[in-house]
Amino acid sequence: MPLAPTDLDLAQRLSRLIRDVPDYPKPGILFKDITPLLGDAAAFAAATDDMARPFEASAVTHVVAIESRGFILGGPIAQRLGAGFVPVRKPGKLPSATRREEYALEYGSDALEIHADACDSGARVLIVDDVLATGGTADATRRLVNALGATVVGLSFLITLSFLPGRERVAGTPIHSTITF
Ligand code: AMP
Repeated sequence: MPLAPTDLDLAQRLSRLIRDVPDYPKPGILFKDITPLLGDAAAFAAATDDMARPFEASAVTHVVAIESRGFILGGPIAQRLGAGFVPVRKPGKLPSATRREEYALEYGSDALEIHADACDSGARVLIVDDVLATGGTADATRRLVNALGATVVGLSFLITLSFLPGRERVAGTPIHSTITF
């Protein structure tokens, strides 16, 4: 369920600040390094503005962001939307009682956790991360939010890798991506 088309000019300008790192963190992966974009004040602000804008009228109460680059983008987006911030982390990192969701990787599985009291059934959640690749991470996060009884009103990514099936994996939820490769 894609939202309105992204600002192509903005996407082109921002994509020049994303560095491709071949074979990181392992052979065959082309890593999208967003640190040059984050280090440019105007680009960082423009990126988080664009990621928030489609959800301004969605009455978002909480931005749920995924460790760790999602945190960097999710903070400014939460503030722009007048929403709270909720971290989703790898197992064992959150200090209080958690809910956990497992998700499949190419080899094996991983898990994500959220604080069990992070939001309740009245919450309207925007999920934020830097990259949508296979969609496993975002889908597990969506299940975590649903398990708390909250409503996922959208997903916002800086980058979508369109040659991978992430969009299909998170179908049914409005999705926005500033840049698509
Ligand atoms: P996935 O669950 O396959 O959609 O992967 C999404 C998560 O993995 C995000 O939290 C990204 O930060 C990270 N990720 C996956 N692929 C890449 C990539 N090519 N470059 C940078 N980060 C990636």
